[in-house]
Amino acid sequence: MEKVAVIGAGTMGNGIAHTFAQSGFKVNLIDISQEALDKALATISKNLDRMVAKEKITEEDKNNTIGNINTHTDMMAGVEDVGLVVEAATENVDLKLKIFKSIDDATSDDVILASNTSSISITKIAAVTNRPDKVIGMHFMNPVPIMKLVEIIRGYSTSDKVTNTIMELSKKLGKTPTEVNDYPGFVANRILMPMINEAIITLHEGVAGVEEIDTVMKLGMAHPMGPLQLADFIGLDVCLSILNVMYDGFGNSKYAPCPLLVNMVEASKMGVKSGEGFYSWSHGTKELIVSDQFK
Ligand code: NAD
Repeated sequence: MEKVAVIGAGTMGNGIAHTFAQSGFKVNLIDISQEALDKALATISKNLDRMVAKEKITEEDKNNTIGNINTHTDMMAGVEDVGLVVEAATENVDLKLKIFKSIDDATSDDVILASNTSSISITKIAAVTNRPDKVIGMHFMNPVPIMKLVEIIRGYSTSDKVTNTIMELSKKLGKTPTEVNDYPGFVANRILMPMINEAIITLHEGVAGVEEIDTVMKLGMAHPMGPLQLADFIGLDVCLSILNVMYDGFGNSKYAPCPLLVNMVEASKMGVKSGEGFYSWSHGTKELIVSDQFK
């Protein structure tokens, strides 16, 4: 497997393309938006410059990495001749089912089809293809070039052979793959999201303020970021959607999203991306300023 296609050139897609290209793979980076592709290449170049400045890679490594990436707006052309497709398009179930149906038709039977989805069932995605044994989750973490974990999700029908291939491939990318089964939230979000939700419930019930909750978890549990700050970074809409997937999937009230989280999303307070969540981000992300709402 020397050539891979990455579908979606957003936050995750550019990092996935960067990581494969830096490990010597040829990458076809695909997006419906030319603007997203241009932005992705600019981001990859900037991130590589930072690595050159820190002497982690050479200028030649940077040029080779960039040289390994080709961009496409035509998905069919982009998935030709690849051994693996990693889909990292927008988190929308209908869109992902449509993409997997198309790439199943457009690629030869032996091509492995992976999704970077945070919350959609790999089994459900696999079921729209004629090769459910070759469909698997490769859940990279943000920022992809830096974070070591890849959560490898086995769908109901994913074969041992495909799982082993993807585990070995992830090691070649310098990552630590961890195999999990396909149930709502997989492992990462099943444990992370209830913690974030509980932090929001703790705030909502007035047990403590934003800074106090985050300080307890940062200094007491050695977390690099408190759960409320992390929720702002992930996006409160994303947190809500993942909690809803687990709430529906398990039918268990312990995953019910806190009404404060629901309200904030309805009020378009999404965290960093909207400029306000538990903290105010209009001054940038370096300084932590609690949102006026929670002062
Ligand atoms: P994003 O919104 O930054 O990027 C999505 C990209 O997909 C956009 O550039 C969009 O133009 C493109 N796209 C939409 N429809 C397309 C199509 N039909 N063909 C090709 N490209 C298409 O999203 P993101 O944050 O990079 O998330 C991508 C995936 O990664 C989602 O499944 C998400 O759940 C998952 N994920 C995200 C994170 C995170 O921290 N952001 C972490 C782990 C996993």
